[in-house]
Amino acid sequence: MQDTDTFRADTRAWLQANCPESMRQPITPDEMVWSGSSVRFGSEDQRLWFERMRDRGWFAPGWPAALGGGGLTPRQARIVEEEMLRLGCRQPQFNLGVWMLGPVLLELGTEAQKQEHLVPMMQGRARWCQGFSEPNAGSDLASLKTAARIEDNGDFVINGSKIWTSYGDAADWMYALVRTDPTARKQEGISFVLIDMKSPGITVKPIELISGKSSFCEVFFDEVRVPARQLVGPLHGGWTVAKKLLQHERAAMSKFSEGSAPSHDALAVARPYLFDADGTLLEPVWRDRLAALLMDSQAFGLTHQRVLEQAMARMDVSGPSSIMKLVQTEQEVAKYELLMQVMGQRGLSWEGDEFSSQEHDIGRLWLLSKTYTIAGGSSEVQLNIIAKRVLGLPG
Ligand SMILES: Cc1cc2nc3c(=O)[nH]c(=O)nc-3n(C[C@H](O)[C@H](O)[C@H](O)COP(=O)(O)OP(=O)(O)OC[C@H]3O[C@@H](n4cnc5c(N)ncnc54)[C@H](O)[C@@H]3O)c2cc1C
Repeated sequence: MQDTDTFRADTRAWLQANCPESMRQPITPDEMVWSGSSVRFGSEDQRLWFERMRDRGWFAPGWPAALGGGGLTPRQARIVEEEMLRLGCRQPQFNLGVWMLGPVLLELGTEAQKQEHLVPMMQGRARWCQGFSEPNAGSDLASLKTAARIEDNGDFVINGSKIWTSYGDAADWMYALVRTDPTARKQEGISFVLIDMKSPGITVKPIELISGKSSFCEVFFDEVRVPARQLVGPLHGGWTVAKKLLQHERAAMSKFSEGSAPSHDALAVARPYLFDADGTLLEPVWRDRLAALLMDSQAFGLTHQRVLEQAMARMDVSGPSSIMKLVQTEQEVAKYELLMQVMGQRGLSWEGDEFSSQEHDIGRLWLLSKTYTIAGGSSEVQLNIIAKRVLGLPG
């Protein structure tokens, strides 16, 4: 095996040669390439970058090569991420499957499930959505009511509805929690199943948002049949599977500052508002606030690095994943609130339906940043988890 320095140098050289210049610019939400059966590219560079990374197995560098991953060690996979970050490379594709479901299937999936789902996921051919939340089951997820009747042959027949399903209208598959035993204690009667979104009986309705964009959907199930082989983990044991998945979701969300979501370099955006052409500081008060923000962000980066090292050493990071999710998403909100204040009314500018230029995005990304503190479990819920599981405080 190559030593670490050689691997890093080779990785950097490959990225420099293969990542087009336009794919090294900060990404806006409209420029994100979502994998799936109907993947769409806004430019030739997007397509090239997608295909090159896919063919190298670097949609998930640390997954087994036999399943389409890169077959790298955890250390090498981290080096790929670090070098992408260093060169400012965009994520070549976005897919809940790779971030959240994939690691769960790698751990708990049957061989047949791995072949059926991980391979298309790795090739960017399947788009996944998450069917957890329901109208009265968000933070209190275990109260979910969508029911799965179990047929004699083990198949499931699903009735009920899900809400806030991001991109449910564009997804090929959904991983979902359904109630399979209504008589058991609420956490013990839930199963985790994989649902083909083309199944008869599924209706998807988009929900409009304040930002003007609609990624949310409601999904209705009317006698939807799901084959028995699509059960992940034990029957009625879906709660444990879901907790694992949520850990991966939180880990993915704590990587937002590493390019896994559109974001801005606060200093670059604020600089013209804070300094004149000679570099003279115009607003000392803003300087102090910006410096505090940058120090917090630096401290977060170092702590994040430590947690990643712990994960690579196979230490339990379930507690830290909640801390990192909480801090990262609250820092994003703090950053955009400061930028909005520094920019004054220019921060409120809003042009057309599309995310247009870096500066015009600020207002919209400020709104978007607030949603991150709710998705994947709200900040208050993360605080509860940290209090209970990390600090050991009474419930
Ligand atoms: C951008 C975004 C994307 C999402 N995508 C998906 C998706 O793809 N699939 C999916 O299934 N869901 C998705 N969700 C839904 C998300 O998981 C829920 O919104 C979230 O779990 C909160 O649930 P709720 O909206 O029902 O709010 P509620 O649970 O009703 O909470 C309302 C408020 O009460 C607080 N609260 C609730 N319980 C407690 C408590 N015990 N202690 C202290 N405070 C509490 C919450 O923090 C919140 O402020 C998404 C949400 C967002 C914002």
